[in-house]
Amino acid sequence: MKFNQNAKYVIGVDLGGTNVRAAVVARSGVIIGEGRTESKAMEGLNTTVGQIVLAIKLAVENSPADISDIAGIGMGVPGTVRSEEGTVLWSPNFLGWDGVQLAAPIVEQIGLGTLLGNDANVAALGECIFGAGKGAKCMVMFTLGTGIGSGLIIDGKIWTGVNESGPEMGHQIVLADGPRCSCGRYGCLESLAQRDAIIDRAARKAHRGRHTSLLEKSNHDLRYVTPAMIAEAALEGDPISIETLQETGYYIGIGVSNAINMLNPDKIVIGGGIAQAGDLLFDPIRTTVEVNALYQQLQACEVVPAQLGDNAGVLGGAAMVLQKTT
Ligand SMILES: [Zn+2]
Repeated sequence: MKFNQNAKYVIGVDLGGTNVRAAVVARSGVIIGEGRTESKAMEGLNTTVGQIVLAIKLAVENSPADISDIAGIGMGVPGTVRSEEGTVLWSPNFLGWDGVQLAAPIVEQIGLGTLLGNDANVAALGECIFGAGKGAKCMVMFTLGTGIGSGLIIDGKIWTGVNESGPEMGHQIVLADGPRCSCGRYGCLESLAQRDAIIDRAARKAHRGRHTSLLEKSNHDLRYVTPAMIAEAALEGDPISIETLQETGYYIGIGVSNAINMLNPDKIVIGGGIAQAGDLLFDPIRTTVEVNALYQQLQACEVVPAQLGDNAGVLGGAAMVLQKTT
């Protein structure tokens, strides 16, 4: 694969189930141009590859860089990848991607070396190199969303596990015999703290007849409540939303404590929409960690919110190329 060792810029790509985002990134981590397209997940591999290539070309066009100024491309992909082979083994968003070549057609069409990584791992690398984990020796990231993603960065490198399947810290069991999880098992952290679990927790409290400002925010239909609404209502003092975040923070705190006790990291970074609730979520997380993490491990570790938001993916992709070319 062709990497331009001395080029000034790199390209990071964040492939999602709905959108593709590409960014031209300076070696300092500053984004100097962006391109966005739809990923067209239902239209097959070739269409999606075309959309990725288009997003990359748009990013270069929208930047002061020329393609010859770019060292290579790093891309986060939802699912299981084989980064050495440039293949995707499975993706929850792209049905039928079972062992497909994804890097090769991009190399062919753009003419630059292309690296793949799992999206949660790549986002964690972005936070570690350019965001909340800067300087960490061992960093764990949890991304809270429709699932709970995780990434482990050791000495600045993604630790993927021996066959690039882990670590899946969202599927650590925090409540034996708890609710059924998307993975089919019971009581995983994800089953208790992903998007719908948080919404259900708030809705169950509201159904007991207690007043909540979530009713007004959702036009009196609790099915339309979102984690962002819960965060907003909690910040405005809504008791049901505050309790919802406290209970959710407790479960996340158990998951974080387990990670601290097992790995002895210096940073735990927590991102995703609900993390925007700030201290209303982080206070119960930290309180739970203080009770459940081992003393020495606790002294060494900080639990902090993610800093890069939606940019973590493209900056992580960029960081993968930087590590290959410096
Ligand atoms: Zn699970």
